Amino acid sequence: MRKTIFTLCCLLLTLGVPAQAKKKSAQPKYIFYFIGDGMGVNQVNATEIFLGQKEGKHGTSPLCFASFPYSALVTTHSASNGVTDSAASGTALATGHKTKNGALGLGEEFTDTVQSIAWAAKQKGLAVGVTTTVGTDHATPAAFYAHVNDRNNTKVIHAQRAVCGYDFIMGGADGQSLAYRLDRKEGELSQADIVRMAIDSLYRVNPKGFFLMSEGGMIDWACHSNDAAAVIGETLDFDDAIKVAYNFYQQHPDETLIVVTADHETGGLVLTRGYYETRPGNLQYQKMTIKRLGWEMNRMRKELGERFGWEAVQDFLKENFGLGGALPLNNRQAERLKKAFENTEKGIGKGEKTLYQEDSEFCACVRTLMQEMALVTFAHTCHSAGYVPCFAIGAGAEQFSGRIDNTEIPKKIAKIAGLPLE
Ligand SMILES: [Zn+2]
Repeated sequence: MRKTIFTLCCLLLTLGVPAQAKKKSAQPKYIFYFIGDGMGVNQVNATEIFLGQKEGKHGTSPLCFASFPYSALVTTHSASNGVTDSAASGTALATGHKTKNGALGLGEEFTDTVQSIAWAAKQKGLAVGVTTTVGTDHATPAAFYAHVNDRNNTKVIHAQRAVCGYDFIMGGADGQSLAYRLDRKEGELSQADIVRMAIDSLYRVNPKGFFLMSEGGMIDWACHSNDAAAVIGETLDFDDAIKVAYNFYQQHPDETLIVVTADHETGGLVLTRGYYETRPGNLQYQKMTIKRLGWEMNRMRKELGERFGWEAVQDFLKENFGLGGALPLNNRQAERLKKAFENTEKGIGKGEKTLYQEDSEFCACVRTLMQEMALVTFAHTCHSAGYVPCFAIGAGAEQFSGRIDNTEIPKKIAKIAGLPLE
């Protein structure tokens, strides 16, 4: 079913885009602004190669958003650092102003308040929505309504969120996120569900026009924890959310603008480990995140009691990660894994802590083995300064091309849609 929808999406793109691309753009009434947190060009490329390899190809199978007719490369540095954090980049993408790392909704002087494009949309009478897959008080969504020197000052952020007057704000609970796509149970919310609800709600509030910012916040979290399969899962989920907006665009092609970008790259993801090869397709055997693996180990230890041991764990890994099954381990890899398991069980394992996650030596070993199987590398667990992509379709989309700075994106949207952004 998913494959059918995806093929349909690509087919419609192929058929619909040239005509759309040549048409002179009217002013858009419905504006979608998608931000993939941590989604550098390689996160997109890895996901497309993953899809291609699942279909038995060497090349890529395109994502819906990456097939939009206009694209640009975006620089992301902040006013204080060569490598931005999500607060400064969120501010740049929301307001068109650079600020220092850690600050939200402040300008170059770090004290002057600057308004966001969501606020500008509200001033023009559009219905306004801000959504995310992480907490709505997290840096990226907060950049669209808050003005505070420190992104961790949640007291101020919550107070400003309460009075911003936007029509639809939705995401995970404060300080929490939705479930990862890989771990999601039936009935649990996805970004696509949220976008669907946002469109219904905003269109009801004002059928004449709305602005919706929707963040895929956990691409970044998966990159911080170097969980390659989770990165691809979250990017696929982001694409599914954009397909909902694309569907809306098809019903209102002359009046809709969709802009998709990222705030920065995370993890320094490289699509090889040398030897002119990469195999993200092998990540299809990973059925849960590394974070979930930690929970599952605790669950099995409790449930199996005396029977919990290396044999049970090997079966579990074969079933849920393909390790030792679809993805054979060589002797050295098998030894490393066993040793990491034994160290963890003896309580002498060296756990690894990253920004949003703490993994046991065993979980960290599985994580590294999956990178080896996929022939991908993470350079670190922080953000990087690599270009991020920008893709656009719809009324005014031709403005998004070439090499641009992140501050130009909201300014372009404002100009195209006639919004009062200063
Ligand atoms: Zn981050």
